[in-house]
Amino acid sequence: MNKIIFLGTGAAASVTRQMTSLLFVTDKVNFLIDCGDGMGTVRNIIKSGIDINSISDIFLTHRHADHIIGLTHLLYIRLIKNEKAKVRVLGPKQTLGIARKICFETHDYLKIHKHRIAFIEIKEHEKVKLSYSVLIEPIKVKGPSKYPLITYGYQMLINNKKVTFSADMVPSLNFEKKAMNSDILIHECFCLNKEKEGVSGFGHTSAREAGETARKCNVKHLILTHFRDEPDVYANDLVNEARMYFSGKIRAAFDLMKIDISQ
Ligand SMILES: [Zn+2]
Repeated sequence: MNKIIFLGTGAAASVTRQMTSLLFVTDKVNFLIDCGDGMGTVRNIIKSGIDINSISDIFLTHRHADHIIGLTHLLYIRLIKNEKAKVRVLGPKQTLGIARKICFETHDYLKIHKHRIAFIEIKEHEKVKLSYSVLIEPIKVKGPSKYPLITYGYQMLINNKKVTFSADMVPSLNFEKKAMNSDILIHECFCLNKEKEGVSGFGHTSAREAGETARKCNVKHLILTHFRDEPDVYANDLVNEARMYFSGKIRAAFDLMKIDISQ
């Protein structure tokens, strides 16, 4: 069964959810998008019953701590469990430079074993083939207007199912074009629409905007994630607002939620 396991569904200030990380489990290969929560990401991989040795590739969306700060711990556990293992970390150049620095300047084992970790820059439209049935493509999305931040969303084609992940972004035509007709759209959803009003340089999507994007893109299933606040009541409020703009299947993700991609 091909599936997505939501290892972390919280944004940077969430105190009950793990920071962002998505685990894709397929027939041939397992990979991560983002690795945001210290050892928490590793613990949730173990809790989900997936062998950490099976994870070959880690795709990063952008340089923010709630998306990359668990990388050091994950790589360490991954590499000590199998002395022959090699791992690839892929993403935008800016993010890789920072991730590389954190890994090698804060962790001596990783520095000594740096030849086993490949940091690989990927560019927009550059498809990465992980197996004959798993293809991943970065999508340049719009981050906050205040800071220079190159951010990638990702689109996965897994056994002909199209899964699109927004990362942290404001709505954009570029993303909508790529997300068109997705089987699953995993979209960050930071707050209610009224809460974003007046926030300068806001680099996130409101529930209303996520719903509107799902409708415009004619997706089959919208999954909201990356919640700023932790209580499920708040996540439900966000789902209810998005539902006013999108009539398809919609749900709020929670840590360790599993979604079958084969259906
Ligand atoms: Zn974030």
